[in-house]
Amino acid sequence: MAVRVRPLNHMEQNEVNCVRVMEGGMVVVLDPNKMEGGQEEDYLRQNRSREKRYAFDHAFDENASQHDIYMATTEKLLGGIMDGFNASCFAYGATGAGKTYTMLGNTSQPGCMVLTVGELFKRITSADSKAYRVYLTYLEVYNENIRDLLNPTTGYLDLREDPVKGICVAGITEFTTATVEETMELLHRGNLNRSVEPTKKNETSSRSHAVMQIMVEGKDKTPGLSESVRVGKLSMIDLAGSERASATDNRGARLVEGANINRSLLALGNCISSLGQQGGKGKFVPYRNSKLTRVLQESLGGNSLTAMLAALSPAASNYDETLSTLRYAARAKRSEEHTS
Ligand code: ADP
Ligand code: MG
Repeated sequence: MAVRVRPLNHMEQNEVNCVRVMEGGMVVVLDPNKMEGGQEEDYLRQNRSREKRYAFDHAFDENASQHDIYMATTEKLLGGIMDGFNASCFAYGATGAGKTYTMLGNTSQPGCMVLTVGELFKRITSADSKAYRVYLTYLEVYNENIRDLLNPTTGYLDLREDPVKGICVAGITEFTTATVEETMELLHRGNLNRSVEPTKKNETSSRSHAVMQIMVEGKDKTPGLSESVRVGKLSMIDLAGSERASATDNRGARLVEGANINRSLLALGNCISSLGQQGGKGKFVPYRNSKLTRVLQESLGGNSLTAMLAALSPAASNYDETLSTLRYAARAKRSEEHTS
């Protein structure tokens, strides 16, 4: 569970920065209504009651690099994937908080998805005991419908339960890339196909969950008795903005959309916390409550590892959303503690 605070952007230059990243994964949020300009350090020392503290495994400030984030999240999942286990990594946060920057990034600052693919190829090339085949898919869940971001003309796709492959999306493009540049290009093109709808809050806010899945098929190279093939799946998800539908003053279709986003995020939170509480065994895990959790079912339960990155804006005008993101993340973190 990691948190990343982005820098203030040019429109926020005159705003109070109300988030402090401390040692040891600690994040402190100051109530901007109770802050007096210029005395932030005194404030930190004296007025403890007006601040809220949250502790995570990692907390990154605006100086963190894309590589720092990668090392704290998906790098830890790669070994398992190559051994045939599933894992997932989520970016959660309000619109504009830095989810897409962190996951996809740009050509000069490639994000987690791209760095992960690059590192995976490096490791696969140097692995001498196994032969690997790798391919990736990129889809979005929007309003409880699934679309192929690499081939959006195919329309809405169905989920299918395959006896061999498990849960899969029927008819989705399976893409094989060899280089980081090609992956960046591919994902960037896919992102342009994401459903973006104008809302009052943000003209181009992403209202869909973008899911990149990397399938890693490993086969033993030693000629042997029975040839065993294991498939590991890594899912990386750039979630839709977590701000509530009401926050954007939406009506009609936009309100339905907002409700669907909330439903997915709530279902995801519920899955993670019920998995954490029972170690994935025994009690009911509500996967079926949303398309997103259905798609990710095999990457959330059993032996799967999950990393979550909560993206935050430090600006005073985003104070409410920052707090609600931290609460969601704290809940996911608590459930993780129950597992171990
Ligand atoms: P989201 O996907 O959460 O809606 P974005 O990732 O698109 O938000 O980020 C919003 C803006 O802030 C973008 O212009 C992005 O380039 C910038 N940004 C986000 N995080 C950082 C960061 N850590 N460093 C520099 N710029 C950032
Ligand atoms: Mg985005």
